[in-house]
Amino acid sequence: MSASIFRFDNTYARDLQGFYTPWKPASVPSPALLFFNRELALELGLDPEALDGAEGAAIFAGNQVPEGAEPLAQAYAGHQFGGFSPQLGDGRALLLGEVIDPLGRRHDVVLKGSGRTPFSRGGDGKAAVGPMLREVLIGEAIHALGIPTTRALAVAATGEPVYRQQPLPGAVLTRVAASHLRVGTFEFFAARGETERVRQLADYAIARHDPDLVGSAGGQYLALLQRVAQRQAALVAGWMNVGFIHGVMNTDNVTISGETIDYGPCAFMEAYDPDAVFSSIDEGGRYAYSNQPLVTRWNLARLAETLLPLIAGEESEGAVKRAIGQATEVIGAFPGWYADALLKGQREKLGLQGGDDEADRALAADWLTLLYQHRVDFTLGWRRLADAAGGDETPLRSLFPEPQVPGAWLDRWRSRAESGGGHATEWSVRAERMRRVNPAVIPRNHRVEEALAAASEREDLAPFRRLLAALRRPYDGAPDQAEYTEPAPAEATACYRTF
Ligand code: AMP
Ligand code: MG
Ligand code: MG
Repeated sequence: MSASIFRFDNTYARDLQGFYTPWKPASVPSPALLFFNRELALELGLDPEALDGAEGAAIFAGNQVPEGAEPLAQAYAGHQFGGFSPQLGDGRALLLGEVIDPLGRRHDVVLKGSGRTPFSRGGDGKAAVGPMLREVLIGEAIHALGIPTTRALAVAATGEPVYRQQPLPGAVLTRVAASHLRVGTFEFFAARGETERVRQLADYAIARHDPDLVGSAGGQYLALLQRVAQRQAALVAGWMNVGFIHGVMNTDNVTISGETIDYGPCAFMEAYDPDAVFSSIDEGGRYAYSNQPLVTRWNLARLAETLLPLIAGEESEGAVKRAIGQATEVIGAFPGWYADALLKGQREKLGLQGGDDEADRALAADWLTLLYQHRVDFTLGWRRLADAAGGDETPLRSLFPEPQVPGAWLDRWRSRAESGGGHATEWSVRAERMRRVNPAVIPRNHRVEEALAAASEREDLAPFRRLLAALRRPYDGAPDQAEYTEPAPAEATACYRTF
């Protein structure tokens, strides 16, 4: 066995005793690597050669606890679809430890699907090949689109079945994250009235994610809330600008780091529809596309509540009132931060530089209304707007029932572009810039399903690998990506559901 592959440094285990249960991954019959992320391994400063083989398979399936790891299940609570669950926790995941990359950034390395833990309740602690490879595809796509996310380092098949509606091949995912601190982690201790633990957690979060706030006399907890809110504003704006629907934005799936986490029932939309919902468990549409910023604000208010005693600093009525006022102000500022982040992204997608905010917001809103009214594919609409900037409007116009439909809007957009920012940007330069923010390739649901079915039902990983390669170059639009740029046949889209 090679010496210390990971060089773990485990601050969570060391500094947060009482916030977790030490636990070991389950053994599985026959580990085999289905996916190994060499690019991510290199970013982490790991040796890909040491991991992309039998030893890696044993580690990533949970059969071999790597040297220096201190596996543990984290405690957390969460508001799920609006209702509070005081005890969730890692029911099928284990934090192995933390690695520090060559740039000095700390990352959690976590196994998901590694067996039951004291937090499992009725669950089996396991995961199936399909959903774990799905997490790879969507997570790598989100990463390639420049949106903060946890990432998959590996998927190992276990060689044993997991029982869902039918038996499915089992797998373990290895996930890398800036941390696994969630809004739900704070809620776990706040709900128990353990204020000192909430403080310990907040101090840990600040040291890990906002070290510049350390020692900012008294105000650091309010500042932490503000930082989390600003990161979430940027995150959700990023999702909205690529048509991503997370699907299960419970507070246990909201990170303090601002990374996307937990690719369960998520999906990208095809035809633009603000009401789009894909998750079969989201019956009320709570986590519909256009609700995502509103739900994020609600989730941040839950975080704010846990921090109130820390923000107040003392128990006097005056101090608590003042804390409520301050926290309310931060939550009240969220829609503005979100709107700014959204507009910044929309301007880039429109090929515009700074100008009149209200006019540009209206221009973007009217564009989206056009897409909605004519059921235009969100991704293709934006991508072909870049082609239109380059001089060829035909592909864009052909997305509409009649080619003249977007004409008036295009005139408005052109004159705004030509008047904007004081410099006359060449249209060809603008088109190139737009192609670098408007993807040609997203993980279209029918392609994802196809790849997962081949992997899960026929042990054929070729479609998964081809799709992954395309998703990693989302802006190319190269001829060899053509099969991934087209929308699903209409019948497939209308009834698509995730679980
Ligand atoms: P999620 O909906 O994936 O965010 O998970 C919500 C909670 O359910 C977390 O506490 C998970 O650890 C737990 N959970 C999900 N799937 C399983 C499973 N198969 N076995 C045990 N716990 C699970
Ligand atoms: Mg979760
Ligand atoms: Mg999940």
